Amino acid sequence: MSEEYSFSTRDKTTVELKSRGGDRLIDVVLPLPIYKALTYILSGHSICPLRGTRVLVPVGRRNMIGVAWGTPAEKPPSVNLKSVKRILDERPLLPESLISFLEWTSSYYFHPIGQVIAEALPPGLLSASNRRIAKINGGLSNSRDCRPEFLQWSTEIPLQLTEEQEIVFNAVCDALATKSYHPILVRGVTGSGKTEVYLQAAKQCVRQNRSVLILVPEIAMTTQTAGWFVSRFGDEVTVLHSGLTEAQRRNQWFRIKREKSRIVVGTRSAIFAPLYDLGLIIVDEEHDPSYKQSEKFRYQARDMALLRGRMSNATVILGSATPSVSSFNNAISGRYQLITMEKRVAKRSLPRVEIVDRRKKEKKEQQHKSEPTRPAWLSNELKEATKATLEKGEQVLLFLNRRGFATYVFCPDCGHVFRCPHCEVTLTWHRGDKRTNSEKDGVLRCHYCGMESTALPVCPECMGQSVKAFGYGTEKIAADLEEIFPNARIARLDRDTVKVRRHMEKIVLDFRKGDLDILVGTQMITKGHDFPCLTLVGILCADLSLNFPEYHAAERTFQLLAQVAGRAGRGKQPGRVIIQTWSPDHFVLDCATNHDFNAFYQKESKLRKTLGYPPFGRLINLRFSGRGKAQVCDTAGNIAKLAKKLATGIKADGGSQVEILGPAPSPRAKIRDRYRWQILLKSSSLSNLRALCSIILSRKADIVPCSVRMEVDVDPHNLL
Ligand code: ADP
Ligand code: ZN
Repeated sequence: MSEEYSFSTRDKTTVELKSRGGDRLIDVVLPLPIYKALTYILSGHSICPLRGTRVLVPVGRRNMIGVAWGTPAEKPPSVNLKSVKRILDERPLLPESLISFLEWTSSYYFHPIGQVIAEALPPGLLSASNRRIAKINGGLSNSRDCRPEFLQWSTEIPLQLTEEQEIVFNAVCDALATKSYHPILVRGVTGSGKTEVYLQAAKQCVRQNRSVLILVPEIAMTTQTAGWFVSRFGDEVTVLHSGLTEAQRRNQWFRIKREKSRIVVGTRSAIFAPLYDLGLIIVDEEHDPSYKQSEKFRYQARDMALLRGRMSNATVILGSATPSVSSFNNAISGRYQLITMEKRVAKRSLPRVEIVDRRKKEKKEQQHKSEPTRPAWLSNELKEATKATLEKGEQVLLFLNRRGFATYVFCPDCGHVFRCPHCEVTLTWHRGDKRTNSEKDGVLRCHYCGMESTALPVCPECMGQSVKAFGYGTEKIAADLEEIFPNARIARLDRDTVKVRRHMEKIVLDFRKGDLDILVGTQMITKGHDFPCLTLVGILCADLSLNFPEYHAAERTFQLLAQVAGRAGRGKQPGRVIIQTWSPDHFVLDCATNHDFNAFYQKESKLRKTLGYPPFGRLINLRFSGRGKAQVCDTAGNIAKLAKKLATGIKADGGSQVEILGPAPSPRAKIRDRYRWQILLKSSSLSNLRALCSIILSRKADIVPCSVRMEVDVDPHNLL
């Protein structure tokens, strides 16, 4: 066995020899939608794999890789137990501390443990094809080649901390010294220098010989954050995110497991990194909704960071300029230590924010017909400000949370609207680059399932030739800008342009270096980026997120506005922000203009309390989906009936009431040919809510037919 494939010294001895007679049985958890382990016989193996070791076992007619889970408590009644075929690891792949964490996560989210493990492992380790097993086990030995490259940023030497940074740093040091669980919420305005505090805190933790986990909300940000950390800590840093190749992800995972790296920077799933003796967890931009996984295993990585921190006696830092309502509520009620940083470093000021009321403007502008035409998305104020900024040689960032060229395509002759046949939503027109695109008119794409069809200028219903497109997305903005400012260097950052990670890194880096003048993007550009020459930020339509049908629409909008605005004026020149809106009287806009988080929190928390929404009430969403419309609807109806009956019982026990909202079709009633219904369970008592959900799940098999999928979403974020 090669040097590289040696496991950590902290792993227990390779395998236990078992000399007891009789049938040696072992429980194995498999990545299947079942809630318990399956029992197998260990015949032909002289050794018994420890918990956390991968084994190859037959399931039905095929072989699968599962994870050994220990000796069964009692011999199962089943007559025909099958045998374990192969033991794949010499020592457990999953450390015991991680196993406990995964078990807890599984139970909190009512998600099968085998599927939780599948999520926690790097890709490929549970793939049962012989070729794959051989390749992966072989690949582990020369995995050095798979190390991802890092972009280095400046400042290898720690900076002299400002007064406010010092206060946070000292609090973290005190917390680290206790070596016990200690959560801290750092609310530091954009540009207050949180990263420097994270870097120095990490150093302190590594000095204590404990490891550090830094979570960032999006792949786009790992580039920058990993860059900072690599500049300071070199090879000690590992990154984990889905933008890496499978081989790279395995390489990074095993480096952590072998304790070759004690600092991990990663996105959501890095919360499952196999780190030993975790002393510090940092959740940067803790408010970001990307921490919640939106399908299958719907965990919230920020919440799990607190749990993991508690289990490993770690200090947990939640950092944000705009903390989530729920974290801030935890902080002011004393569950977390709260520290605020009100000032930007180097006496830089927060940007000046101006609101452009598009209602009045539109009317007035109609009277000035002499004015040269401007695209509908661009106010005169923003156009002039952009022009002035470019003339000064400074940079402009324009934010719009919608991709594509046009969001709505229809035929005015017969009224036909182009919709996705699988999802019943309108298709977005992606025109593409006219110079390079082989499809002359681009494609129509469904933003839910990704279905594409060629955009033809002819209506498929009436053969009419006057097909029209409405609405605008980032692609249209960038195209218009090229016409208005022909000399500006313009780039676009959204999910369409950054399918390749390198591409995105290049755009971010070019903009940072000043090789681009205007950057247009979706929320991808809002997060944590530090662009020193950016002085003007334009928010094209604040109403998009404000009018979203979710209870947290106002919170999300406040965060987006504050975060995007926070990109401006981080260098020597002061920043300016222009927000275009059709609802200038909304309290969120007022709070954003004044950079007033506290005022926002007061208003928003009052509203939430009245309605019993989180964090003042807890939610569990039961989602049903299937291809048969009637079946999905009936199943949701039957579960709701059961839930209502059970809820009265739980209330009678004296606890707080569980409200059953629904059943109702989901606002997005059909996605990928599957009809969707949901039932929302709501209560101020989490334990009552969980009790109810447990009973429902225990009866699921009797009520939910195989053709309908029922999923549990604990602490749902997205109710669409
Ligand atoms: P935040 O994450 O709080 O929005 P950053 O960590 O990105 O802010 O810091 C903003 C800028 O301030 C960065 O360019 C950073 O290098 C700089 N900076 C941070 N701390 C200091 C310091 N103590 N002295 C000088 N510059 C600093
Ligand atoms: Zn679709």
